[in-house]
Amino acid sequence: MTERSTAILGGGALGLTLAWRLAQAGERVVVFEREQEAGGLAAGFRVGAAGEVAAPWLEKFYHHLFATDRDAIALIEELGLGDKLTWRAPNSSMLIGGKPYRLDSDPRSILALSPLSLLDRLRLGAGGAILKFLPSPEPLAGATAASWLSRWMGRPAYETIWKPMLEGKFGARADEIAMPWMWARAHYRSLRLGYLHGGFQQIYEALAAGIVARGGEVRLGAEVRALTPQGQPDGGLRVSSAAGEEDFARVISTLPTRVTCRITPDLPADYRARYEWGEAFGAHCLILALDRSLLPKHIYWLAIGDAGYPFLSAIEHTNFIGPEEYGGRRLVYFGNYVPMDHPVLRETPEQALARYLPGIQRLNPAFEREWITQMWGFAAPWAQPIVTREYPRHIPPHETPIPNLYVANMFQVYPQDRGQNYSIRLANRLAARLLAG
Ligand SMILES: Cc1cc2nc3c(=O)[nH]c(=O)nc-3n(C[C@H](O)[C@H](O)[C@H](O)COP(=O)(O)OP(=O)(O)OC[C@H]3O[C@@H](n4cnc5c(N)ncnc54)[C@H](O)[C@@H]3O)c2cc1C
Repeated sequence: MTERSTAILGGGALGLTLAWRLAQAGERVVVFEREQEAGGLAAGFRVGAAGEVAAPWLEKFYHHLFATDRDAIALIEELGLGDKLTWRAPNSSMLIGGKPYRLDSDPRSILALSPLSLLDRLRLGAGGAILKFLPSPEPLAGATAASWLSRWMGRPAYETIWKPMLEGKFGARADEIAMPWMWARAHYRSLRLGYLHGGFQQIYEALAAGIVARGGEVRLGAEVRALTPQGQPDGGLRVSSAAGEEDFARVISTLPTRVTCRITPDLPADYRARYEWGEAFGAHCLILALDRSLLPKHIYWLAIGDAGYPFLSAIEHTNFIGPEEYGGRRLVYFGNYVPMDHPVLRETPEQALARYLPGIQRLNPAFEREWITQMWGFAAPWAQPIVTREYPRHIPPHETPIPNLYVANMFQVYPQDRGQNYSIRLANRLAARLLAG
C-alpha cells in the first residue's frame, strides 16, 4: 500500500461515490464493505430463478427517486445509465378506516380526502402549500412536527394522517421529531417518482467497476473492526478488518458516527460526549412474489393509517414498474421501522410472514398463501436516524480530532430525510474539498 492511499469504510452510496471521485482524481482507494455486495441500504438482490445471473435487481428495501434528487440523477447520467431512468406518477395512497385514499402532493387528492371535513382538507392543503413554498426551514427550527402540524393543519388532519405516519416511522419517539425534517420531506417531494429499470444496484456495480478500473479496490465481506492512529501528526491509520491489518494515509468512515466511535477507541471523551449520541431504528422488509396483484386500484404505495397493522406500508412495486420486467411476478414489500433490538430484525422470511399475515389478509381478504410464489426478508440496523430537535447539534464535522480520520455518513444529512441523493451529494462535496487540499 502506498503512502497516499485512502481507506473508505462502507460500500454504500456514500462510500462508493467518494471512492469513485478520489479514484477519478488519480488517488488510490480501498473500500471496505462488510456485506457480500456493494450498495448498503440501497443494495439489491436478483429476482429470478436460483442462479439466474441476468435477472433484474430489486432493492432489498423499496427505493425510488424524487425529481429534486439532482445529484443522484447526475451520477446516473455520468455512469451511462440515464436511459434506464424512468419517471412516472404511480398511485400513492393511505389506508384510512379500512379504505385506501389517494394521497400525494396533487391538491386534488387532498380535496377528495373525505375522512376529513372540507375545512380540515383546506387546512391540510394550506399547511402543505406553506411547507412547499417556504424556502428554508429556519422559521420552523425549535418546533416539533407533532406541535406544528397539529397547530397549523388542525388536530383531525394530524390524528388521521401525520400521527400514524410519524408513529409508523419513529414509534414511541414520534412526538419528538423535529419540524425542519418534516418540512424537507414535504418540500422536496415530487409527484413524479423515478426508478432505474433493472434496479439501483446497477449504480453501485458501475461505481465499483469504475473504482477498480482506476486501480482501486472494493473489498466485499470485509468488516472493519478497529481503527488505530499510527502516531501524530501524519502517521496515518491502521485499519483492522477480517482480512488483517493495513496502514493508510487517510481513512474516511461512512459508517454511522456511533459505529465509528465504537471501532476507534482513540477518539477523545469530549468528541464522544457530543457526537456518540442519538438513536436510530432498524428497517425490515418482507417481499412477496405473488401470482396476482394484491392492492386495489393499481396502488403502488399504501401507507397504513389504521391502527393494529404489523407493518407501516405495503408497496406493490409492480404497480410502478410492470411485472413483465420480473417474469410476470407481482412484487409486494411490507415495510417496517423498529427499534434495533426488535425480534423481527432476526426473523426468517417465514417467521416474518407469520407475523405479517393477519395484516395482509386484512388488507385484501381474498388473499391466500397459495398466491405466494417466492419470498425474501431483509433487515438492516442504523436505517433511520431519530431526528429530534437536538439532532442538528450532534452532527459531527467531517474532520475528527484524529488527523487524517474523517467521518462522512447519512447521519450528517439534515434536515432532509436520508436518501441516496443526499449521500451522493455529501460524497461529491467532501471529495471536492479533499481534492482541493
Ligand atoms: C426502508 C428504506 C427505504 C428507503 N427508501 C429510499 C428511497 O426511496 N430513495 C432513496 O434515495 N433512498 C431511500 N432510502 C435511503 C437510502 O437507502 C440511504 O440513504 C442510502 O443508501 C445511504 O447510503 P450510505 O452509503 O450513506 O449508507 P449505507 O447504505 O448505510 O452504507 C454504509 C455501509 O457500511 C457498511 N458497514 C457497516 N459497518 C461496517 C464495518 N464495520 N465495516 C465495513 N463496512 C461496514 C454497511 O454494510 C453499508 O454497506 C431508504 C432506506 C431504507 C432503510
